[in-house]
Amino acid sequence: MKEKMEFKTETKRLLDMMINSIYTHKEIFLRELISNASDAIDKRHYLSLTDSSKAADAYEILVEADKEKRTLTITDNGIGMTKEDLVEHLGTIAKSGSKEFLEKIEKEKTPDVDIIGQFGVGFYSAFMVAKEITVYTKSVEDGKAHVFTSEGLDSYEIEDCELDTYGTKIVIFLRENTEDVKYDDFLEEYQIKDLIKKYSDYVRYPIKTWVTKYDEKKEEEKDEETHTHLELETINSMLPIWKKNKSEVTDEELNTFYKAKFMDYQDPITHIHVNVEGMLTYNALLFIPKKPIYDFNDRNERGLQLYTKGVFILDKCKDLIPEYLRFVKGLVDSADLPLNISREMLQEDRSIKKIATNVEKKILAELGRMLKNDREKFEEFFNDYGINLKYGLYEDYGAKKDSLKDLIILSSLNKDKRISFAEYKEAMVEGQKEIYYAVGKDKEAVLKLPQMDLIKNKGYDVLILADDVDEFMLQVLTEYDGVKFKSINQGDLDLIDEDQAKKIDELKEEKKDILEDLKKALPECKDVIFSKRLVEAPCCLTAAEGLSFEMERVLAAQHQGRGMKAERILEINPNHRVFQAMEKAYEADKDCLEKYAKLLYTQALLMEGILPTDPKEFSESLCELMIDSVK
Ligand code: ADP
Repeated sequence: MKEKMEFKTETKRLLDMMINSIYTHKEIFLRELISNASDAIDKRHYLSLTDSSKAADAYEILVEADKEKRTLTITDNGIGMTKEDLVEHLGTIAKSGSKEFLEKIEKEKTPDVDIIGQFGVGFYSAFMVAKEITVYTKSVEDGKAHVFTSEGLDSYEIEDCELDTYGTKIVIFLRENTEDVKYDDFLEEYQIKDLIKKYSDYVRYPIKTWVTKYDEKKEEEKDEETHTHLELETINSMLPIWKKNKSEVTDEELNTFYKAKFMDYQDPITHIHVNVEGMLTYNALLFIPKKPIYDFNDRNERGLQLYTKGVFILDKCKDLIPEYLRFVKGLVDSADLPLNISREMLQEDRSIKKIATNVEKKILAELGRMLKNDREKFEEFFNDYGINLKYGLYEDYGAKKDSLKDLIILSSLNKDKRISFAEYKEAMVEGQKEIYYAVGKDKEAVLKLPQMDLIKNKGYDVLILADDVDEFMLQVLTEYDGVKFKSINQGDLDLIDEDQAKKIDELKEEKKDILEDLKKALPECKDVIFSKRLVEAPCCLTAAEGLSFEMERVLAAQHQGRGMKAERILEINPNHRVFQAMEKAYEADKDCLEKYAKLLYTQALLMEGILPTDPKEFSESLCELMIDSVK
């Protein structure tokens, strides 16, 4: 007997949305139907564990196109549906995803068509392509068969029928082609194969479809027409490589998989294979590309691919990976997420958060292992991605500093290779209390800094900061394992012995007048002092504690810091002949001091790589001095 029933109001609204949808990825309906089929097989398989009479010989999902009738049929030998199931599941919206979807479009007057793909509205999505759908189903539970028909408008019909096998067969009568959408495309063999590969490759059961095979020709038949026949072929690879036991997968296989999936031509630097079972069950496969992959489509997007139970959900799930690890490629397959999870829900989802934390930990652990066991590889990695780790350490006020500080390597004065903070500390000489660093593009540049004199004599190593972010990173760290970081040109270096220091302090008292006048001549300087760090050089510029010259430059280049300036201190070497000459001139004529002060200050600026504000004035004074000297 045929029974006509009304859809519930909610369902009608959803169907209405689907029918009038202009969503461009209508193809997702196939993913949804295949996923339902796979769930149905899961359920039958589960039942058969306790009742073997309910088992099938083999489970499969069949996708068939009929070009003449313009139908696409998806058949499974899963659990099937009882009449009540049909009314309850296909006649009513039970799914939380669909409900959420409705609420969302209710709020937005003109719904963004893209949200359909994010919600994945299950069975109903088929109405994006169908003008009519017929569902034949025989339930394993009560052994009865029914046929459900609907045009997706107000009502549907259910009728008893006879079917030989358990399971469900969904027949989609495609809509007429329009100018915008060629529904007939869904009947094409290549299209069906592509969609199965793209969305359902890792569904656990074979997804089969009819594939054209070219008959082999004998030599004498060469000129004849090509003969073909159709063969049923399994399209999906079923067991995803990441679900296999780690010991069963070779590096070679993983590399091949990586290259095909993430479109790289080189093997990755490393891979991380995670199988977790328990409270949270998931598998992850992560890769660090040999060279950063430049993504032309959306280079601003980071993220891992997300699957749930082998069904592809999202291409770039950014909630799975922190910003600073954006270079990591890979995927996560979780058994604990619903298929219909939306982007909004992902952000809040606790399992996603847990997985993300774990993924981050695993990556950092692998990098730590690499640093320890395969230094060369780590250095290669650091060349390209070290900067990301440095930013990661600096960002969020150093929230990640403890997990990242041991993965940073920097060049140093005394070593040929880059060293970690731990290695620096390990090599500290007796009496050394701090970790010294200098900003400079390389060793040579740093060696030339006048401030280096004393440090060199002491044999202390100095970390060389070449990247803009380096100094900011050290500011966030402030210390490593109880040892403070110290810039060679900021604050007091405390390198000379007490006697010498005392001598300089006495000198300061003695030469108070000239120091005062120098200070007056240089209003840009916070202070002019006798240096406790210079040996050879006549003078140098240092910054007071806080902002350094390098940081000032970086901030200005990024239009940040609102014009903040490092506080300049001119340090003069009282033992240098230049100071002695200046003193002599000052005693003879106090007015000449300003000129010398400016010259000295500008030289100090230049050594710091800072251009004088008035180069012309500098040049003129220098010329004057040259002329005077040969008088
Ligand atoms: P979801 O699959 O997320 O629950 P759907 O709207 O796609 O949402 O399907 C609703 C319900 O209909 C399913 O939960 C399931 O009980 C039933 N169903 C759908 N397709 C099948 C099928 N092929 N075999 C058995 N039951 C099905």
